[in-house]
Amino acid sequence: MYPETLEILTNPNPLLRRISEEVTDEEIQSPEFKTYLKKLFDIMLEKDGIGIASPQVGVAKRIVIVSNNGKNHQFLINPEITWENKEKTPLLEGCLSVPSIFGMVTRPKTVHIKARNENGEKIKIQASGYLAKVIQHEIDHLNGILFIDRAEQLENERGEIL
Ligand code: ZN
Repeated sequence: MYPETLEILTNPNPLLRRISEEVTDEEIQSPEFKTYLKKLFDIMLEKDGIGIASPQVGVAKRIVIVSNNGKNHQFLINPEITWENKEKTPLLEGCLSVPSIFGMVTRPKTVHIKARNENGEKIKIQASGYLAKVIQHEIDHLNGILFIDRAEQLENERGEIL
């Protein structure tokens, strides 16, 4: 069910466009699941990601890892946004699945979310600033949405408009 070796899929791979399934309580407790989470975490670090979503390695499950710009990593399983600020702010986003392309995306400044952690415990988070953006970007992946769908304009690594 979980691949032995993980590989980051890149756009336009159609697997990035699937809607991911919820993870069951039983699954969270299984050793295979824990091994998979470890691999997902490792590949994110290896690729210098500040977050990752399970569909990016072809596993359509509602699992993401988020961080505050590389610090305080957190696993969110079955994450749901329960509240979002009406105030929206822009941030230049990039994605491991869309290499060398960046784009300004405007999203709510603050979000409240509920999820399970890697032990299956219920957690609630109130995130603002950078972390709020990462959470929203990663949850989008679970719904088959990429930041390029939301960006007003795309640019390359040298800041040239594409
Ligand atoms: Zn991404």
